[in-house]
Amino acid sequence: MNFSLRQKNLRLQLGESEIDALLVSHLPNIRYLCGFTGSAGFLLVSEREKVFFTDSRYRKQAQEQVKGAKVIIARNAVLKAVGDWIRDRRRRWKLGIEAEHLTVAERKRLLEFLPSGLRLRTAPPLVERARMVKDIEELRLIRSAVQLGAALFDRALEVIKPGVKEVEVAAEMEYEARRGGAEGMSFPTIIASGARSALPHGRASEQCIAPGGFVVCDFGVILAGYCSDQTRTVWVGLELEKARSAYYAVKAAQEAAIAAVRPGITVGDVDSAARKVLAKSGFGRYFTHSTGHGVGLEIHEPPRVAAAQTEVLKPGMVITIEPGIYFPGEWGIRIEDMVAVTDGGCEVLTPTGKDFVAV
Ligand code: ZN
Ligand code: ZN
Repeated sequence: MNFSLRQKNLRLQLGESEIDALLVSHLPNIRYLCGFTGSAGFLLVSEREKVFFTDSRYRKQAQEQVKGAKVIIARNAVLKAVGDWIRDRRRRWKLGIEAEHLTVAERKRLLEFLPSGLRLRTAPPLVERARMVKDIEELRLIRSAVQLGAALFDRALEVIKPGVKEVEVAAEMEYEARRGGAEGMSFPTIIASGARSALPHGRASEQCIAPGGFVVCDFGVILAGYCSDQTRTVWVGLELEKARSAYYAVKAAQEAAIAAVRPGITVGDVDSAARKVLAKSGFGRYFTHSTGHGVGLEIHEPPRVAAAQTEVLKPGMVITIEPGIYFPGEWGIRIEDMVAVTDGGCEVLTPTGKDFVAV
């Protein structure tokens, strides 16, 4: 990973954002900037200095992992070490904080430890913005995560049948994930059958899969830090014409949105490409969530692919395309792929077929 380039880019952004230094507290941002994968630490980046603060549990790990920044092991509270470091150097900074990721209590503590001449500023999401465009190495890791994630669905298809509990399907998939090297699931596996398939986020429950309904499978793995995210919906039992045509309406909407993905287009336009197709087939009002989201070190990261969002797609961005329709009390359908924006359009990363499957 080219940490020095990432750090340099951030330092260039500081001046433009009218802050002298940024205190990075969001762990995925810290990992992105310096490689640290532990669960406690702060990275301070100014025009000239890069210092990583953590506690003694992470002494060895920080020394091994942290690239391009001085490592300081705090004797007491980590934020006190940050405050002391700034105070000792008599910095009169406008110090940027990540408002979305610093707790109220942390902010209060920070103010106690900082010298009085220093002002805190809410920084724009500089690191999140940089993270939206993936470099070649990140794309390689994301591809590997997507491949492993897709293999879980093959396993699911072997297990899904009437009488099997949703959690049993999830358990088989998660076992497969671990065997394939996953560090974990990128979110709690969703296996939603019968009327539960109409819940867009129906985590696997004790419910037994019954014939005559859809099963929505939404799942992903974390592999080498990067997340995958995929949804497939299968029918259980005798095929129903109504279910089949609704399924193909969702598939057409999903493919229309994928066809719209290219550099220069806004994410709002990608969202409306999916929405238009579903409106035309009469399902518009059953599509109740946004079309997708960015994926990378986090399962949900910018950009949001939603109505009226103005973020413009650039090559290297990785987003999901996941329209769905939900009939409360009956059933629901969602199809989700991950795509990478390329110079000429996009590459669909998810290898799994999308035809109607009945088991
Ligand atoms: Zn998903
Ligand atoms: Zn998703």
